Amino acid sequence: MSADSHCIFCRIVSGQIPAKKAHEDDELLVFHDIHPWAPVHVLIVPKQHITSLAEVGPEHAALLGRMLGLAPRLMQQLGVDNGFRVVVNTGADGGQEVHHLHMHVMGGPRPWLRG
Ligand code: 5GP
Ligand code: ZN
Repeated sequence: MSADSHCIFCRIVSGQIPAKKAHEDDELLVFHDIHPWAPVHVLIVPKQHITSLAEVGPEHAALLGRMLGLAPRLMQQLGVDNGFRVVVNTGADGGQEVHHLHMHVMGGPRPWLRG
């Protein structure tokens, strides 16, 4: 599986940097955002290093489906029962700060810090 040793999310996937994990399977890791914008704020991250949503192709369709499909089950497990928001910041103008594909999933009562 491809990894970039300088990438912070690859380092979290490999266990070199600790994170508060919410889910792990063979393809995906989910952990709580270090600077949450909402009462519940997790990042769904593929273990494979993909730079951004701009880099995905048809070969990633199943992976993307798995990421999105995990969100409702995770939110339920984390006690979010009144809706949630999914955000994928992409590229410079999209406000992406970590260049490893990730899906923000945020829930809990408003007001949120961002978005
Ligand atoms: P982006 O702006 O790239 O969509 O969001 C990156 C997110 O990753 C930010 O919300 C930021 O708080 C989070 N983040 C950055 N570094 C770390 C880290 O080392 N650990 C965790 N848990 N979250 C991080
Ligand atoms: Zn990476």
